[in-house]
Amino acid sequence: MTEISRISLENEMDIVVAHKHMESVAQYFSLSLSTQTTIAVAVAEISRVVIDRTDNGCFIIGMERTGAGKFSLIGRFDFPSDIDIRMTHQGLKYARLLVPEFRSEKRPEMSSIIVSIGVPRSLKVTQARVLEAVDFFHSTQPVTPYERLKLFHPVISGQNLDQEVELKHSYLLDEKKNEFISVASHELKTPLTSLNAFTKLALGVAATESSEKVQHYLEKIDHQTHKLQLLIQQLLDTSRVESGKLDYNMQQQEWNSYMKDLFQVLEHMFPTHPISWQPCEDEVIVTIDALRIEQVLINLVNNAAKYSAAEAPIGIGCVANDDSLTTCVRDNGIGISRENLTRIFDKYFRDEDVAGRYGGFGTGLYITSGIIREHHGTIWAENNEAAGSSFYFTLPITKLVQA
Ligand code: ADP
Repeated sequence: MTEISRISLENEMDIVVAHKHMESVAQYFSLSLSTQTTIAVAVAEISRVVIDRTDNGCFIIGMERTGAGKFSLIGRFDFPSDIDIRMTHQGLKYARLLVPEFRSEKRPEMSSIIVSIGVPRSLKVTQARVLEAVDFFHSTQPVTPYERLKLFHPVISGQNLDQEVELKHSYLLDEKKNEFISVASHELKTPLTSLNAFTKLALGVAATESSEKVQHYLEKIDHQTHKLQLLIQQLLDTSRVESGKLDYNMQQQEWNSYMKDLFQVLEHMFPTHPISWQPCEDEVIVTIDALRIEQVLINLVNNAAKYSAAEAPIGIGCVANDDSLTTCVRDNGIGISRENLTRIFDKYFRDEDVAGRYGGFGTGLYITSGIIREHHGTIWAENNEAAGSSFYFTLPITKLVQA
């Protein structure tokens, strides 16, 4: 059989399409009006039966050479063999009455119902004419507006799927944003309340008590101010990282001397935890934005302190190989579940078990990874064998002077 036209049978609208196509092909070969109508009606009836059972059927129109100068117009319906279509079905019985030849074929995968009508010799159909029909029906416009839509169906449904995914994503993000705003206002309120209380206490005792007590309250105020600064910085930077608007002032730094200064800042900021710093064996020059890398280390040490018990040690170390410097911040804290080791770098991500017990925005590591990425480095987390976790980040080495 030479295939002239093929229509997938998915829904009721395809009955009309199958009918129209059969009618058009019969007309193309100059079959009589009554033949055109009867074969098209038979096709519509069979299409209905197939569509009732499956949306996975297919209707093929073709011409078959049955003898010298003799051709038959064929309509073949293919459908999966596990679909039960009884030949005693009322619709099939009716179709059988309309066409001279009606048969069914059962194969392992696909089964078929085939109808055919012999084309009178007087119409002088040739194989060349059949091939012309193939070209003609491939190039002609769709018969109905629905067909036009159907033609674009794969494109349209592909677009729909994309839009659906996008929509779901934006709902999810919106939900996360709302949750973030409520967490953010709560988180900012906490250090502000402390600041307020300690300032009042400091003011109250300043006049009457020893300066030692005032000193103690001022230290608390200082600590809470740092906390507030960090939180506000995180709020501002989250959207900047997203839009790529974080500014960088890249300069060459000798890593050990840079870290020596930064280490003092860290010790001062996190007095609740003993922090150790293991300098690099080699002299390493890196090209960095000093303030942004400071922010990275403050974020990592802040987390190490937050997610471990007071007095638990925090270690910072680094190694240099040929072209990159790896720095590690190690804690003895609660560790990170295996499935969250990569998710923790996502925006707003907070471990559900952790969120109830510890404060935070879920943006620190998102910003941190953004800064490292902009420095052409990588960042990852690992759980330690004994307890806690280690965060590693790399920076490209500008110059290495080996010890
Ligand atoms: P936040 O700490 O504000 O929640 P981060 O982006 O800094 O946001 O961290 C994301 C999540 O990663 C945290 O909620 C926590 O579950 C986990 N996490 C980060 N650092 C550590 C750490 N040192 N130990 C254990 N869990 C950590």
